[in-house]
Amino acid sequence: MADDQIATPEHTVDGFVQDFLRELTFGQGVTLERSSSNDQYLALARTVRGHLMSRWLRTLQHQREVQAKSVAYLSAEFLLGRQLNNALLATDLEEVVEEGLGRLGIELTSLRSLEKEPGLGNGGLGRLAACFIDSLATMNIPTIGYGIRYEYGIFRQTFVDGWQVEKPDSWLELGSPWEFPHPEHAVTIGFGGHTETATVDGRLTTTWVPAWQVRAVPYNYMVPGYRNGRVNTLRLWSASATESFDLQIFNSGDYTASVRAQTAAENISKVLYPEDSTPQGKELRLQQQYFFAAASLKDFIDTVLPADFDLHGLDERIIFQLNDTHPVIAIPELMRILLDEKGWDWDEAWALTQKCFAYTCHTLLPEALEVWSVELLGRLLPRHLEIIYRINEEFLDEVRLAFPDDELRVRRMSIIAEHPERAVRMAHLATVAGQKVNGVAELHSQLLRDKVLSDFSEFYPDKFTNVTNGVTPRRFVRLANPRLSGLITEAIGDGWVTDLDRLRELEPLAEDPEFRRRFREVKAANKTRLVDLLKVRDGIEIAPEAMLDVMVKRLHEYKRQTLKLLHVVALYDGVRRGEIRAEDLTPRTVAFGAKAAPGYKMAKQTIGLINAVGRTINADPALQGRLRIAFPANYNVTLAERLIPAADLSEQISLAGKEASGTGNMKFALNGALTIGTDDGANVEIRQLVGDDHFFLFGLTEPEVSDLVEHGYRPTAFYESNAQLRHALDLIASGAFSGGDRRTFEPIVSNLLYEDRFLVLADFAAYLEAQTRVEAAYADADAWSRSAVLNVARSGFFSSDRSMRDYLDHIWHAQPVPVA
Ligand SMILES: *Cc1c(COP(=O)(O)O)cnc(C)c1O
Repeated sequence: MADDQIATPEHTVDGFVQDFLRELTFGQGVTLERSSSNDQYLALARTVRGHLMSRWLRTLQHQREVQAKSVAYLSAEFLLGRQLNNALLATDLEEVVEEGLGRLGIELTSLRSLEKEPGLGNGGLGRLAACFIDSLATMNIPTIGYGIRYEYGIFRQTFVDGWQVEKPDSWLELGSPWEFPHPEHAVTIGFGGHTETATVDGRLTTTWVPAWQVRAVPYNYMVPGYRNGRVNTLRLWSASATESFDLQIFNSGDYTASVRAQTAAENISKVLYPEDSTPQGKELRLQQQYFFAAASLKDFIDTVLPADFDLHGLDERIIFQLNDTHPVIAIPELMRILLDEKGWDWDEAWALTQKCFAYTCHTLLPEALEVWSVELLGRLLPRHLEIIYRINEEFLDEVRLAFPDDELRVRRMSIIAEHPERAVRMAHLATVAGQKVNGVAELHSQLLRDKVLSDFSEFYPDKFTNVTNGVTPRRFVRLANPRLSGLITEAIGDGWVTDLDRLRELEPLAEDPEFRRRFREVKAANKTRLVDLLKVRDGIEIAPEAMLDVMVKRLHEYKRQTLKLLHVVALYDGVRRGEIRAEDLTPRTVAFGAKAAPGYKMAKQTIGLINAVGRTINADPALQGRLRIAFPANYNVTLAERLIPAADLSEQISLAGKEASGTGNMKFALNGALTIGTDDGANVEIRQLVGDDHFFLFGLTEPEVSDLVEHGYRPTAFYESNAQLRHALDLIASGAFSGGDRRTFEPIVSNLLYEDRFLVLADFAAYLEAQTRVEAAYADADAWSRSAVLNVARSGFFSSDRSMRDYLDHIWHAQPVPVA
C-alpha cells in the first residue's frame, strides 16, 4: 500500500460512533446491548489506536525512505502507565470520544478505569525510559525502544495486617489492545554450549555452538508523538520455545518433559525481577538480559536496516543507549556478530563497537553495581566471556602504558573482579566500550567522576558527561492535572506542552492574588478527586482540608521513609506527653506509597511499621484527627497521576549522595507542591531553579556525610542527646504500635541505633526543624500558593524534552525528522 492510500479515520462524533460500534460488533463479536464494560473498553482502545495507525505506517514508510540516524533505547524496564489517555491526548480525540460514548450511554471515565497499566518496570529507571521515548516521539527523533514483554510485571502489592503481600500482576488477562505481535519476525537466540576455532583461508575463526535456543517474538507498541504525525515503535520481546527446543526432547519420547521444556523457554520473559537498586546475580536474569539485547541487535541489523547495508557505517545510522548495565551484554554480542559472523578483524570490530554504544549509570550504591560471576557468564555465554577477556586484556595494557608500575590501579579498573569471586563488572565494561558515560543529575555525575568511576574519568576525561533526568509534561502535567493545565493554558496558551520553559511566563502571575486564588481552587479540587479515589480504591478516609504531605517512591533504606515516619511518631509522642497541644498541630495527612522488593526484609518491616503507626494514630482521639497516615497499597503510575497533583508537600529526603537523581521530585514541583528535601540528586537543581525561599532544605551535605562516616558515625550519640528522638524510638521499641510486642519492630530500632547506614538519626533534628518551617509557611495560604506557582513556573527545565535535547547534542548527534 502506498503512502497516500493509508486511510485515516474520520475525526467526528458520528465517525467515532460508527467506528466504535464496528469494533464492538466485528472486533469483539458482541452487540452494544450484550457488551460488557471490558468489551467496550477493548472496542474503544481499538478505535482510538486506529487513529494512530495511519501515522504509524507513515512514520515507518518515511523512515525507510529517509534512513536518518536513529536512537535505539535499550532498557530492561519500561514503566509505561496506562495507554488510552495518552492516545486520546496525542490524537486530540478526547472530546469527540466523550460525546460519542455519551450518545451510547457509556461514560469515558469508567472505561478508562478498566485499563490495567503495563507495569513493566520497578520504579524510577523504568519510568524514565517511558518518559524518554515519549519525548523522542514528540521531538520527531527516529527512535526504537527495545525491551522485554514480561508476562507478569511488577507485583501487585496488598496489605495483610499491615504487612506487604505480593500478588501476581496479570496485566494481560483481559486482552491487550495496545500491542501488535509479529511472530513471523521472531529471531532465534542461543545459550550455553561451547566455542570452536578453525583456520579458514589462513585466518583463525571462532564459532559459538550454543547448546539450546529460544525464540524471541517481537510485540510492537505505538509511541505517539504529541500531535505531530509521528508514531515511533517500542519493541518488546517475548520468549517462546523453538521447534528444535521442543523436538529434541520430544524425540526422546517424553511428552511431559517436552512441555516442561517449553515452559523453560517461556520462563525467560515470564516475570520482571522486582529488585530495585539491589540486583541479585540470578541466572534467569542474565538470560533475560542477553535475550533482549541479542534479539534487539539482530532485529536492528537484519530487519530495520536495508538488506544491502554496509555495517561499516553502522554508527551513522544508530546509537544504542544502554539504560543502566542491564543491556550491557549487547557490547560483546555486537563484537561476536562482527568477528564471528561477518569475519571482521578485532581492531576493526572494536573500533566500530566503541562508536555504537553509550551508557547511563543510575546509581551510587556499591551494592547496585551489577556483576556476573565468570562461572555463570562462561556457562551461559562462553563466546561472550572470551570476548570480554580480550577486551579487558587490551584495555589493561593501555592502562599499564599510561600508568606504569601501578598494578593496584590496574586491579581497580579491571573489567574482571577477583574478589569475593571472579566476576565481570558490567559498569566497567560499559565504560570501556561506551562512546559516552553519563550520570543523571549534576551532583550524581560529579560523584561518578570523583568517586565511583574516578579511575576511569582520569583515564577517559572526555567520556564523562551529565544529563539531568526529566519527566514528560504530557503525562505528568497535561494528563495528570487537567485543571492546572487548563489554568496554565488560559494564562499563557498551550505552547508549554511541548516547550516547558514557557512556564516561566507564569512568574508574573505568582504576584496576582486572583491567579493564586484560582491555583488554590485547582489544588483543592485535585484533593477532592484524590479523597474520592482513595475512598473507593482503598477504603481510606482523608480530610480534604488538611495539608497533604506525600512520600511516594520505592521503599529503600537510602530513601529514608523511616525518617518521615519518625517525624510522625515524634509529633504523636509530643501530643501524648502533653508537650504539644493537638490544637497547635497543622492538620496534615501523611501519604505514603511504596513497594518493597519481596526479599528485602528491612524494607518490608518498614512497611509493616508505617501501617502499624497509621493504625494507631488514625484511631487515637488525642490527635483530634489532625495528623493521619494514608498508605494506599500498590503505588504505580496510575496512582502517581492522582496523588501528585493533589500534594502540598513533596518529601525528597534521601541521604545526600545516595539518590542519583529522582524524578518523582520533578513531578511534584511541576504540579505545584513545595519540596522538603536534602541536597541530593536533582533536588539540588530544583532548589537552584525555584529558589531557596520556595524549597525547604535540610540535612547533611554529601561531603559532610563522607566526613562523618570516615570519622566513625555513632548513631547512639544522636539518640542520647536528643530527647524527642529518644522518645520516638523508645515508643516504637516499647511495642506501642505492635500490641505491646516489643519484638515486632525490634530489627528496625536496633538497625537505627547500632548501624544506621543512611544516617537517619544524624539528620533527624534538622528534619524536624525544617518541618516547623514548613508549618509556619503553610499557615500563610496565600504566600504558600505564591511559592507553589513559582515552583511550577521555574521547573520547566525538568521536562524530559530538555533531557532529550541534551542527549542529542552531547551524545547521540541525531537530528529531528518531521514526518511529512
Ligand atoms: C516517578 C515514579 C517513580 C520514581 O520516583 P522517585 O521518587 O524518583 O524514586 C517511581 N515509581 C513510579 C510509579 C513513578 O511514577
